[in-house]
Amino acid sequence: MDGASRVQISDHLTPEEQEDERPTLVVAARRGLLGRCPNCGKGRLFASYLKQVNHCDVCGQQYGHIHSDDAAPWLTILVVGHLVVPTALAVESQTSLPNWISMTLWPVVAIVPRQHLCPRFEVVN
Ligand SMILES: [Zn+2]
Repeated sequence: MDGASRVQISDHLTPEEQEDERPTLVVAARRGLLGRCPNCGKGRLFASYLKQVNHCDVCGQQYGHIHSDDAAPWLTILVVGHLVVPTALAVESQTSLPNWISMTLWPVVAIVPRQHLCPRFEVVN
């Protein structure tokens, strides 16, 4: 169903009433970080891992025109790098792990938060 053909409850409200219905920035951000529509909190925000939906299936809010491009991977690398690299340096300087453990451990430690954070940062952008 096309989101533009939907009749929303908010279509019958005055601009002031519509403004009252809009979620606060904190509420919208929390909903987005959970992968839900920031507007209603019920519809899905992603069709797949990083592909956002064109519109919310519940409230019809349009998202197809929003593109984060490379911002989400960039922000993910920035955050994960600042968490994992100092941790790896601290652990490696205090221990004498065998090379095969170090070369297995740190990529896994970096990939797990990357997989979790990248879609969330897609929402933030
Ligand atoms: Zn929605």
